[in-house]
Amino acid sequence: MCEAPTQALPNKVNKSLLLAFDFDHSLIDVNSDNYVTKLVPPIPVEIKKRYSSQCWVYYMGAIFEHMHLQKITPTQILDCMNEIPFVNGVMELVNFLDRVDVEMIIISDANSVFIKQVLENAKIAHLFAETFTNPAHFDETGCLRVQCYHNQDWCQLSTTNLCKGRILEDYLKKRCDEGVSFSHVGFVGDGIHDYCPCLTLREQDFTFPRINYNLWKKINKMPKNDELSLKSQIIPWTDAFEILETLKAVL
Ligand SMILES: [Mg+2]
Repeated sequence: MCEAPTQALPNKVNKSLLLAFDFDHSLIDVNSDNYVTKLVPPIPVEIKKRYSSQCWVYYMGAIFEHMHLQKITPTQILDCMNEIPFVNGVMELVNFLDRVDVEMIIISDANSVFIKQVLENAKIAHLFAETFTNPAHFDETGCLRVQCYHNQDWCQLSTTNLCKGRILEDYLKKRCDEGVSFSHVGFVGDGIHDYCPCLTLREQDFTFPRINYNLWKKINKMPKNDELSLKSQIIPWTDAFEILETLKAVL
């Protein structure tokens, strides 16, 4: 990882913090893929059989085709996204971090259409430097199509379509090549697949696991000094105001 320079170098920038967010149950207070299915209850059994915890892009693709056959329009889907509540305190958190020049990114196993709609509707899309997620679009018939972000076989902790740890490492390397380093890196997450990016963090970094969710449970179950133990500081949270208070003390 790119270390902070000991003294200012020409064309080198050291920022205080990169904060990476998961999306579902971390920025927003629901799972967007589950939320949208309220437009077509119940999901047929033959589609439910396609569910896989290792990659649910194909399962969601089948749901979106089913929604299209049920005459659900793109507008209905986007309106559904506009209803979704944020986690309490997220607006205050991201607006504060933007004011103090913290870099923010999103790494999510949702899809680009959902995330773009939610962020633009809340007028906070410009606060995020990049979003890494499964690419999606409405095709010419109005059916929502989603693809895997990548196909990976190197990480057993992640889904086959999205290794968040590799994405975070690649982003930090890209920023390092551009002359930007970070004194601290944080990851805000809730899910079991958020463990991999947290494993990449250093002692001076922060893991923010949502209390009572799977990431928090996995961290609590991990034996001390296991080779898969986290090195970073662990700051459990129930709402984003708690993350804000922690970061105010650091920045
Ligand atoms: Mg999540």
